[in-house]
Amino acid sequence: MPSGTTQFLDVHNPATGEVIARTPLSTGPDVDAAVAAASKAFPEWRDTPPMVRARTMFRFRELLERHFEEIAATVTREHGKTLDEARGSLRRGIECVEVACGSPSLMMGYGLENVGPGIDCQVLRQPLGVCAAIAPFNFPAMVPLWFLPFAVATGNTFIVKPSEQVPLTQRRIAQLLEECLPPGVVNLVNGGRDVVEAICDHPGIRAVSFVGSTEVARAVYRRATHAGKRVQALGGAKNFVVVMPDADFDRAIDVITESFYGCAGERCLAGSVMLPVGSAHAEARDRLAESARALRVGDGSKPGVEMGPVISAAHRDRVLGYIEKGIAEGARLLLDGRRNPVADRPGGYFLGPTLFDEVSPAMTIGREEIFGPVAAIAPVGSLEEAIAVMQAHPNANATSIFTSSGKAAREYARLATASMVGVNIGVASPLAPFPFGGARDSFFGDLKAHGRDAYEFYTDKKVVISRWF
Ligand code: NAD
Repeated sequence: MPSGTTQFLDVHNPATGEVIARTPLSTGPDVDAAVAAASKAFPEWRDTPPMVRARTMFRFRELLERHFEEIAATVTREHGKTLDEARGSLRRGIECVEVACGSPSLMMGYGLENVGPGIDCQVLRQPLGVCAAIAPFNFPAMVPLWFLPFAVATGNTFIVKPSEQVPLTQRRIAQLLEECLPPGVVNLVNGGRDVVEAICDHPGIRAVSFVGSTEVARAVYRRATHAGKRVQALGGAKNFVVVMPDADFDRAIDVITESFYGCAGERCLAGSVMLPVGSAHAEARDRLAESARALRVGDGSKPGVEMGPVISAAHRDRVLGYIEKGIAEGARLLLDGRRNPVADRPGGYFLGPTLFDEVSPAMTIGREEIFGPVAAIAPVGSLEEAIAVMQAHPNANATSIFTSSGKAAREYARLATASMVGVNIGVASPLAPFPFGGARDSFFGDLKAHGRDAYEFYTDKKVVISRWF
């Protein structure tokens, strides 16, 4: 059903600046219509045998595979990331569908006989009803797939609200879902703040999954829990990467470069501040600078390009503001990416890889999430100091350590505040069978995304105690 709104927002190809679509900025009545459709579909979907529901996920997976290249190209076109990055993120999303195919086993309850004379006790897991997911701009395909397959396979009906900056990928995925699911089981609404608030407030929605910046995650968590919903809200990040003097630099530098600059820094798991320990500083700095300088920046749809543009002109200007702040606050600019390095794309929202040394964690660029291709190096004297810097930050999404010492790695992982920890891994990415979500100001809620947490989040437990006379 088309949106009833009269308000639209232009969608740009960030590599060219061209307008490629318009997003309808839905409001309350569109959310009402989506909830009505999802509520109508719920009883029959809930009563559909779990194996039959799982079969629809098998079919969905086949459709995603069949249209894999087309969907990846759409991600690149509306977001700007390289095709390889788009493919990788879609692959991670498909893995969630694959894990959700196991829902008949994974959503099973449990039981105990003879809890009293002739009395048996059984735990049933039942779907909640209508659930919704609200997504950010940086992973147009993957983030909704962290939630949708698990919600639907466990018998819930669903509403997806993609970022208004990247509506096209989810529109295509919704068309594929129409081929494998009954009408109303999954519904798409578009728009920004108004539609998010309508979702938070709507009495017909039982659970909300949100992914975006910390400020909005906190507001959504408060508003939707206040309205009585189950909520998981994944927020922003500032991720620290520790490099010990005993790190294997030959292998570490490439992955660290990818962590800082891959997806133009627009990943919630992107490395943001490198903490080289003691004598690691000079080598880590020089080799990171060399590797970042060599990155090929360009239109992400072109082969060989390693870093695409940022999402919008406004975001590019915001990132430029951070570079100016870094200079003003006294950090040492080693690589200056302020000028568009892509000569054949003058209208694109490009920045070059930017690197600052001698950053202190108190500086703006050492503290705030930049979400662009700007990396900071903040040298520290010891592992203990690195741990203290990481622990002092209010965000705690992901962190990594590069070392050949098992003891240092164990200590770091044990004391990390972040809930995703990489040991000689640049991006400790979400994996479908495991739970994913940060801690502190990077996550609001109790149950994380996918993994076993998904089954806790999307089902209620009912205890049936029976005695037969
Ligand atoms: P954002 O918070 O601006 O938007 C996220 C969603 O909220 C969008 O759908 C948007 O329409 C909506 N929204 C925006 N402002 C709102 C408001 N005031 N009230 C209600 N809804 C609002 O985030 P973004 O710019 O799209 O994405 C980047 C952010 O997302 C970064 O901070 C990044 O770290 C974070 N992120 C986190 C994760 C994670 O797993 N923790 C994953 C991806 C992105």
